[in-house]
Amino acid sequence: MDISVVVPLYNEAESLPELTDWIRRVMNEHGFSYEIILVDDGSNDTSWKVIEGLKLHHEQIVGVKFRRNYGKSAALNIGFDAAQGDVVVTMDADLQDSPDEIPELYDRITNRGADLVSGWKQKRYDPLTKTIPTKLFNSVTRKMSGIHNLHDFNCGLKAYRRDVVKSVEVYGEMHRYIPVLAKWAGFTNIQEQIVKHYPRKYGTTKFGPGRFVKGFLDLLSIFFVGKFGKRPMHFFGTIGVLSFLVGFFITCYLIFEKLRSIAEGTVYRNITDQPLFYLSLVAILIGTQLFLTGFIAELVSRSSLERNQYHIEKEI
Ligand code: UDP
Ligand code: MG
Repeated sequence: MDISVVVPLYNEAESLPELTDWIRRVMNEHGFSYEIILVDDGSNDTSWKVIEGLKLHHEQIVGVKFRRNYGKSAALNIGFDAAQGDVVVTMDADLQDSPDEIPELYDRITNRGADLVSGWKQKRYDPLTKTIPTKLFNSVTRKMSGIHNLHDFNCGLKAYRRDVVKSVEVYGEMHRYIPVLAKWAGFTNIQEQIVKHYPRKYGTTKFGPGRFVKGFLDLLSIFFVGKFGKRPMHFFGTIGVLSFLVGFFITCYLIFEKLRSIAEGTVYRNITDQPLFYLSLVAILIGTQLFLTGFIAELVSRSSLERNQYHIEKEI
């Protein structure tokens, strides 16, 4: 199969017939073999009914329905697991992204060496309250990730060589950072394609301003995971042990000096009267705390293996 189009959707019933028709038209014009994977992220409108209806007339449609709303990244992740095409294209369901871009995305991957192609909505149809924070966000992400040729990490329209989506896992708000995860997984040919962008035709945006905060926390966490190779214990634990040892040796020194003064019969101040004693106490306490922090971080990062257990209610 040439192309899998993965579409995460949450309450997008009105857009789906037009979207799938449009994708079908483009695919047929270019003679691609394809599938459209519609992932219903726990919608509470009639989206799933619409998907069932579309499936009756359109065998290339694959539908997956989550039992509840898990977020766009989870929806993409399930789509990636299911995808069979050589090239996997992701696009939003709301008709803001154009299926007309798919042939060029496909060409970049199959003929021009790209592992991943990210859309750039150079001309956007979104309110300023969204475009300004997004600009800031993109520049921070560009600097932190070292992927300097991308302008628009958040664009829902992207294409991947199949190996890429099979090697990355997305959760939280990570869908914005798939290029970063891909780069870390060793897929370095990351290209950008300027794409058309349309105003939302039906319904409203599914994300509030909180997305930027969540997104930034995710960026920090993947940055951290990348730097310390999923071993937070190595970072916190090492500083903790060092601090503990400093405190421990200072205490030993104080005890040694006290014992020596007793042995020599000289006058020596009480250990608890000396500032060094308090320094060692602080070093030991901070060391223990940091070590425990590292331990907890290690547990959290291990249990993150369970992140991707979504509950699928229906599949067609
Ligand atoms: N979406 C989703 N789960 C969510 C929120 C959004 O699957 O919890 C889908 C949504 O239906 C759309 C895409 O993700 O297909 C992008 O969402 P939206 O258009 O609301 O984002 P925006 O264009 O405003 O960035
Ligand atoms: Mg949208």
